[in-house]
Amino acid sequence: MKFVDEFRDTEKAKTLTKEIHRLAKKLENKQGINQSRPLQIMEFCGGHTHTIFRYGIEQMLPDNIEMVHGPGCPVCVLPMGRVDDCVTLAERPEVIFTTFGDAMRVPGSKKSLLQAKADGADIRMTYSPMDALNLARTNPDREVIFFGLGFETTMPSTALTVLQAEREGINNFSLFCNHITTVPTIKAVLDSPDMQLDGFLAPGHVAMVIGERPFDFIAKDYHKPLVITGFEPLDILHSMWMLLKQINEDRSEVENQYTRIVPTEGNTPALEAISKVFEVREFFEWRGLGSIDHSGVRMKKEYTAYDAEQKFSVPNLKIADPKSCQCGEVVKGVIKPWDCKIFGTKCNPENPMGALMVSSEGACAAYYNNGYEKKIA
Ligand code: SF4
Repeated sequence: MKFVDEFRDTEKAKTLTKEIHRLAKKLENKQGINQSRPLQIMEFCGGHTHTIFRYGIEQMLPDNIEMVHGPGCPVCVLPMGRVDDCVTLAERPEVIFTTFGDAMRVPGSKKSLLQAKADGADIRMTYSPMDALNLARTNPDREVIFFGLGFETTMPSTALTVLQAEREGINNFSLFCNHITTVPTIKAVLDSPDMQLDGFLAPGHVAMVIGERPFDFIAKDYHKPLVITGFEPLDILHSMWMLLKQINEDRSEVENQYTRIVPTEGNTPALEAISKVFEVREFFEWRGLGSIDHSGVRMKKEYTAYDAEQKFSVPNLKIADPKSCQCGEVVKGVIKPWDCKIFGTKCNPENPMGALMVSSEGACAAYYNNGYEKKIA
């Protein structure tokens, strides 16, 4: 297949759905499979959550399969304290603060970046860190800070931008680094006592950078099957079929459905750029999941001049989410978004109380935007 429409083909989707139902039926009679609950398959990535809801994939699946929406939306798991740090940096008079658009509305303890912009802070949305570097070139009297956010997918572009700034000797550019890592987070999810997962759809764009091997421990140590998955509806259905086949055959392996993009060993130049600029933090705070060891990166000492956390002071305070927010339980898949007491009422996309309602990749926004508000109790 070459064109995106081919990955949305209705007839192929019907064929795959039929096969998924056949394998799920086989599982009902299989010894050792827990009959008291549905199979729980986690899609780690918010991009997959978005596709699942946009194309109604959950409704196409058999009743004995339940999708659990994981924490893989970087905007959704950004803790309030880090948003407050962004606002503090952005409100400095000499600063132009740059960010991707989806971070603008994430609530901080007092205000979001959008509210800070309305209050007069010079905050600009950019499409890439290179746009921010260009602002630094054209505004030599200002300090331009880029809000680096995302998993290994976006790390290479920020690393390469820092290297470019260094090459050009641009010294009014810095990075507020909030990049997070996938594998320690999946491990934390697997170690969580309230999780009962039977398999994973792993993020194809992360694997495009890090390759297949970092996921091996999930199959070897936790005996869970995992399929690296693309982002079109047929990708998701194909991967579900591959997972069910593994479960039926008592296999726990790392399989790659997204071979058209993901090389087994990952992307070497991207990995080199990451390891040149970043090092693993001892721990990083996640909204809803708390502190997870080695789940984020910071800039190496050699790049202190480009590190906004070193160049400017940030409060770095830990701020608890509002009591009514149940984002943490949703992120861990313990409850569904509509189970949150304020889903669709006090918390909606127009007025998000929690981060999962902000990004289109957040589980709560996906439920709300796709008509699940009718399920409000
Ligand atoms: S409805 Fe709002 S507060 Fe509740 S879990 Fe979702 S985003 Fe968080």
